[in-house]
Amino acid sequence: MKPTNTLLSGIGTTIFTVMSALATKHQAINLGQGFPDTEGPRDVVEAAAAALMDGRNQYPPLTGVPELRQAVAAANRRFWGLEVDPDREVVVTSGATEAITACLMALLDPGDEVVLIEPLYDTYLPVVRLLGAVPKLVRLAPPRWELPRAELAAAFGPKTKAILLNTPMNPTGKVFTAAELAFIAELLQRHDAYAVCDEVYEHLTFDGWRHIPLMSLPGMRERCLRIGSAGKTFALTGWKVGYISCDASLSGNVARAHQNLTFTTPPNLQRAVAVGLAKEDAYFAELAGALQAKRDVLASGLAELGLRVLPTQGTYFISAEFSSLGFPGDDAAFCRHITEHAGVAAIPVSAFYDAEGGADIPRHYARFAFCKREEVLREALGRLRAWLARGELTPAARSA
Ligand code: PMP
Ligand code: GLN
Repeated sequence: MKPTNTLLSGIGTTIFTVMSALATKHQAINLGQGFPDTEGPRDVVEAAAAALMDGRNQYPPLTGVPELRQAVAAANRRFWGLEVDPDREVVVTSGATEAITACLMALLDPGDEVVLIEPLYDTYLPVVRLLGAVPKLVRLAPPRWELPRAELAAAFGPKTKAILLNTPMNPTGKVFTAAELAFIAELLQRHDAYAVCDEVYEHLTFDGWRHIPLMSLPGMRERCLRIGSAGKTFALTGWKVGYISCDASLSGNVARAHQNLTFTTPPNLQRAVAVGLAKEDAYFAELAGALQAKRDVLASGLAELGLRVLPTQGTYFISAEFSSLGFPGDDAAFCRHITEHAGVAAIPVSAFYDAEGGADIPRHYARFAFCKREEVLREALGRLRAWLARGELTPAARSA
């Protein structure tokens, strides 16, 4: 038999699915895959239920129902001062995952170079490669996750078509600063390149940190494709409704990519997300405030257990270094071990680096999701405390 697509057969199952399955098997508290353990806002869920019953269940318009496109445009104006035309500059997709692929398809020809920043979300690299484009990786390193500006500038060249930028950033919790974004904007202008901006955590920032869309910087309006996700903004990750805001000169190709991926996205969920995006400012402030309180519970608890917790300014995630616990293995072994023996699942941070990427991939950090009820976070901390107290990490027990 002829081989099937070698790029895909070379990729394993995503780490999120692997760790969730292991968590289920061992009845572990799942602080791995990032999903909240509470339902999203009641009025949004009710709007979806009502929309299912009122008879608009056939194919919606290709680029999204008008209510949602208008709500996306209004939210762009309200939160970020961005003006986009709801009829020509918004495309609704089945989740940000589809949006990322659609934007890359819209921009890239085989051989084009794309600048990617590690650690990176798991779909970026395979999709860039499947499109025949060439990834140029720039690596951020813990504990500070600083943008290495000289390396970033060196990654751009005459073949650069785009950068894929994720801020607030999964898994680091980094929120890119105005100065960092200005540096990237200058590179994009100098090299006549585009930016696919994965901003799914746009509303999830803490401690006064504020998300800044690259698209809002001077000269960036025509170069950025800005992606949001209802999954993150309304704690409804299973819904898979995403939205792309971009200049009319780019949206035609984005729509043609979407047309060939899924064509449309469930109309009832779209209409409910439109209700959500119109919610009062207090909803968005409370969303971030409640999450910040959960972050504090998990961060201080992990620190008390002896892990070195890195600061996180946004997203659902904390990274923590576990070397101080005396665990002998790498991050993949650690995450497997605590899932099986402590009953708490986490994600190894090395999974967010190109597997071919050589020796300096960080291998002593675990990513913990804190988008869980406080009692669940406390129970997870209690389990980790009990596991440490059992002393299984003494030399005799180090079979890991
Ligand atoms: N980008 C990032 C950085 C993410 O963490 C996620 C995770 N959910 C996505 C994209 C995908 O979003 P969606 O569920 O809307 O497809
Ligand atoms: N975005 C989620 C995370 O980083 C996972 C989404 C997925 O499982 N594909 O945990």
